[in-house]
Amino acid sequence: MTVHGPGTSGLILDEPLLWEKGKSGRTAFSMPDQDVPEVADRLDDKLLGAGPDFPDLSEMDLVRHYTRLSSWNFGIDTGMYPLGSCTMKYNPKINEKMVTTAGIATAHPLLADELSQGVLQVLHELQYFLGAVTGMDSVSLQPAAGAQGELAGMLIFAAYFREKGEKRTKILIPDTAHGTNPASAALSGFTPVALQSGPDGTLDVESVAVLMDAETVGIMLTNPNTLGLFEESILEITAIVHQKGGLVYGDGANMNAVMGMVDYKRCGVDVMHLNLHKTFSSPHGGGGPGAGPICVVSELEKFLPQPHIVKKDGYYQLEHDCPDSIGRLHAFYGNFAVLVRAYCYILSMGAENLKKATQLAVLNANYVRESLRQALHLAYETPCMHECVFSDKLQQKHGVSTLDMAKRLIDHGYHPPTIYFPLVVSGAIMIEPTETESKEDLDRFIAVFKGIIREAREDGERLRQAPTRTRLRRLDETLAARKPCLTG
Ligand SMILES: *Cc1c(COP(=O)(O)O)cnc(C)c1O
Repeated sequence: MTVHGPGTSGLILDEPLLWEKGKSGRTAFSMPDQDVPEVADRLDDKLLGAGPDFPDLSEMDLVRHYTRLSSWNFGIDTGMYPLGSCTMKYNPKINEKMVTTAGIATAHPLLADELSQGVLQVLHELQYFLGAVTGMDSVSLQPAAGAQGELAGMLIFAAYFREKGEKRTKILIPDTAHGTNPASAALSGFTPVALQSGPDGTLDVESVAVLMDAETVGIMLTNPNTLGLFEESILEITAIVHQKGGLVYGDGANMNAVMGMVDYKRCGVDVMHLNLHKTFSSPHGGGGPGAGPICVVSELEKFLPQPHIVKKDGYYQLEHDCPDSIGRLHAFYGNFAVLVRAYCYILSMGAENLKKATQLAVLNANYVRESLRQALHLAYETPCMHECVFSDKLQQKHGVSTLDMAKRLIDHGYHPPTIYFPLVVSGAIMIEPTETESKEDLDRFIAVFKGIIREAREDGERLRQAPTRTRLRRLDETLAARKPCLTG
C-alpha cells in the first residue's frame, strides 16, 4: 500500500513576477481629484529623475501576489520539519500572545529602571530558570544567537587567561562540532585544534589527554554531540582539561535532549550557551531573531557581558559598571521578545513537563531510529538522544543518494531532514523529530520514508528527478550560492 504524506500537487498556484503582471495605467488606489493647480516644476521629478520602473498593478493583483507568495512558505505550523541539530519543534501560540500584551510590546528600552521593574523581573527570573535547567551559577541573556553566545564564551576564556597572565593560544574542538565553534574560537584569537571522535561517534579520553597542554585554553564540546550521542566520558574529559589549567566550553544547542536531566556544572562545564530559539520554543529559521544566553560558573561571573541584571533590596536594576566584563554584546538587552517567549514557555511547562518533553524527544528519535534501521544504514549502534543519524550507504548501489531521498520527501509534504552533516558521516541523514510530533505523524513519516527507500530499489531514475510535485524542480544549488540572482 502506498502511504501518502501530507503533500499534494493540487492548488500549487504559479505566480509571475510583478513586472510580468503589470499593465500600464492600472492602479491599486484611488486618490480624490486634485483641488489645487498642478505645479510644473515638480520636486519629486527632480529628485527621482525618471523614477524606478515600478509596474502598474490593481489592488487584486497585489493582494493575490503576496498572498500566494506567503503560501509558498513552509514552517513548523505547516508540517513536520525534522531538521537535525536545529530542534524545529512546535511553538505554542500562547507565547506569541504574551509577547503582544501591551506592557511587554510597548516597554521602551530607554525607560529608567524604576519604570521597567516588570520587564526586568521577567529577565531576572529567566536567568534564574536557565541556571536551574543547566545547573550553572550565573546567566547573561544578552547574546542574540548560539554563535554569539559562543563568541561571548570565548571572550570570557580570553579574559580569564589574560587576568591569570597566561598566554594560551590553542583550543580543542571535536570533528563533529558545529561550524560556528571553530569560527567563534578563531574570531577570539584562538587556533582550533581538531579532535577526532572515536569509532563509536563520541570523544576518546586518551586523545584529549594527548592534545591538552599548557598552550591550550581548553575544549569546546557539544553534549549530546551533533551525532545525537551523549558524551559518556564527559567527567574524565573535563577533569583532564581542568588538571592542565584549562576551561571547558559546553555548546548547549542540543539542550532539548537533556532539559532538567543533566547538571552541566557537575559535568565540569565552565561556560555554556543555550539556543532559546531551538529548545525554548521561539519560532526560528530564515535568519530571524534568536537568543543565545550564556551560563557560567560563579568564578567567571564577573566576566559576563554588561550590563548585568541584578536584584538589590527587592529592586531590579541594570548594573553598568562591571570592570571585568567582556563588555556589551547587544543594543539594550538582547532580543527581548525571544526572551519573553522562553520565559512563558518555561512557566507554562513547569519543571516536570520540561523533563517530560525531553524524555519524549528522546523517545521519538529512538522510535524513528528503530523503525528505519533495517531500511537505512545506521551510522552508530548506540541508542541516540534527540536525533538519529543514518546514511545512504545501502542506497548507493541503486545510484540513489541522500540528496535524492531528501528531495523526494518534499514531494510528500515533508521538509527534508538535515543532510550531509555532521561531516564525519558520509552521506549523513540526520532526523530530529522532536517531542511535538504525535505517534500517528511519526508513523506516517516513517511509512513515507520506507516508500522512498523502496522506490530507490525499484525506480532509482524517478527518485533522481525529485522533487516532481513542486512548483520548481531541482535547482542548481551551487550556482544559486555562487551567483545569487535576487531580482528574479
Ligand atoms: C544551531 C547550533 C549552533 C549555532 O547556533 P545559532 O543560534 O544558529 O547561532 C551551534 N552549535 C550547534 C550544535 C547548533 O546546533
